[in-house]
Amino acid sequence: MPHLDPAQLDAQFTPPIERCLDEPAHEAAWEHEWNWQTPRLCEFDNYGKRLGNKRLSQFQCIKVGPLADALEDIGEVDAAQAMRRCGCYVIVDRYERGTVFRAMTECNHLVCPTAQRRRAAKLVEEKGGAIERYIRRNPGSRPLMATLTTKAVAAYDLWVAVDQIFKAFSKFTRRVAIKRAFLAWLRSLEISRNPQTGLFMVHLHCIFIVGPDYFKPGSKEYLSFEKLRAAWKASLRADYDPMVRIEKMRGGFAPLTVTGRKSLQEALKYCFKPGAIFYTKTGGRPAIVGATTRELFDPNDGKGLRWLTNVPLRAIIQALKDRRLVETSGNLKGNLDLDFTDDPDAETRAHEAELGEFICSDLYAWREVRGRGDFFFVGRSFERPANEGGFAMGP
Ligand SMILES: [Zn+2]
Repeated sequence: MPHLDPAQLDAQFTPPIERCLDEPAHEAAWEHEWNWQTPRLCEFDNYGKRLGNKRLSQFQCIKVGPLADALEDIGEVDAAQAMRRCGCYVIVDRYERGTVFRAMTECNHLVCPTAQRRRAAKLVEEKGGAIERYIRRNPGSRPLMATLTTKAVAAYDLWVAVDQIFKAFSKFTRRVAIKRAFLAWLRSLEISRNPQTGLFMVHLHCIFIVGPDYFKPGSKEYLSFEKLRAAWKASLRADYDPMVRIEKMRGGFAPLTVTGRKSLQEALKYCFKPGAIFYTKTGGRPAIVGATTRELFDPNDGKGLRWLTNVPLRAIIQALKDRRLVETSGNLKGNLDLDFTDDPDAETRAHEAELGEFICSDLYAWREVRGRGDFFFVGRSFERPANEGGFAMGP
């Protein structure tokens, strides 16, 4: 269980720091368990003020509760421990015109909801930048958004299905017609689960960049829907017609507009649909799918296929661990070192200009009061934070 450790708090803040916890500062005095007592108030009136970020609180409830328990159940004891500590302290850097959230002691686990969100935000910036550069260098080219699917599989086949879709995609991109049509590509894996059947669906969200002549009448590059589906079917070696979707990507990409960023987010937001693992019980408490029911699964421990609890979680971790979940063609990787036109600090400066003057950093600690959790204000620093980049989260 996480402790409210003053040494840990102070390490995150350079002086001057004002701490509003009026308790003895030696470590032994801070060995409170999870439900630590409300400390006495000192000079800070807003001690105990809630952060009021509902999404963040929901995520934290899932993480430190049912998700950590489920990880422990499947034998991932270290991950469970890291998850219970993950994001229990949140720093909010307040600026004139906005705030930046920073979470401390993050677990970065594959199934951690906040880690997943942070990864997505980073990917959108990174890949958005690569697409922007590509289109600027190749005027007239434009991105299309596609979804390539496979048929549903049982949990114990998920790992194999992910393997197959990656291999099929690599074959797909080597086909002559595909190479001629799509000049650059990005693929992002996503897994969903049908709660009724319990079957998993593996699919790829793809961005295909086409040249200026792609849509011209009589274009040799153009691929009809039927041709695209046939190419995907052949790459999959499927005996069924896989579902395929393709459309123009909405928004501007050079420069990247708000709508363009939203489209990118659609493709990159997560590697599994949250509903595959999380659900809300009646009454609003978060819970993990399959925590109390048994399904057939082989956890690869040499004991073979058998009935186990937490199978959706086991299957997703097994299938996604150590995979390249997002991959691009070489020409979208770009060599940032060789890109002299881009000023690496320009973005940071632009972001700071947007936010205005730094005001203060507020520290919030997670705690549970009678079974309900929230982030509570515990300290404030007026020292400007070192620029390491936070993750933007809506208020
Ligand atoms: Zn985490």
